[in-house]
Amino acid sequence: MSARGCSHLDAIGSIKQPQRLECKECVKTGDYWVHLRTCQTCGITLCCDSSPNQHASKHAHASGHPVIASAQPSERWLYCYPDEAFAEY
Ligand SMILES: [Zn+2]
Ligand SMILES: [Zn+2]
Ligand SMILES: [Zn+2]
Repeated sequence: MSARGCSHLDAIGSIKQPQRLECKECVKTGDYWVHLRTCQTCGITLCCDSSPNQHASKHAHASGHPVIASAQPSERWLYCYPDEAFAEY
């Protein structure tokens, strides 16, 4: 992992992949989402900051889970919220 000064990204071994390509919160309320992100601590898949509800960011801040991975099939990157650090894999 080529992260600069982020211990969270350094600690990621295998990437957690989404179990289903849907936001777990938006499907409950019938909302739509733009892109999906998967929490690398607990594995939940939620929607990105371009989506109306921004569930992935809310989850990260509420739970303290620092790292998400893009759940888009064409994208292979991780993001750490506390360090604002990106890493491709
Ligand atoms: Zn970090
Ligand atoms: Zn959502
Ligand atoms: Zn989580």
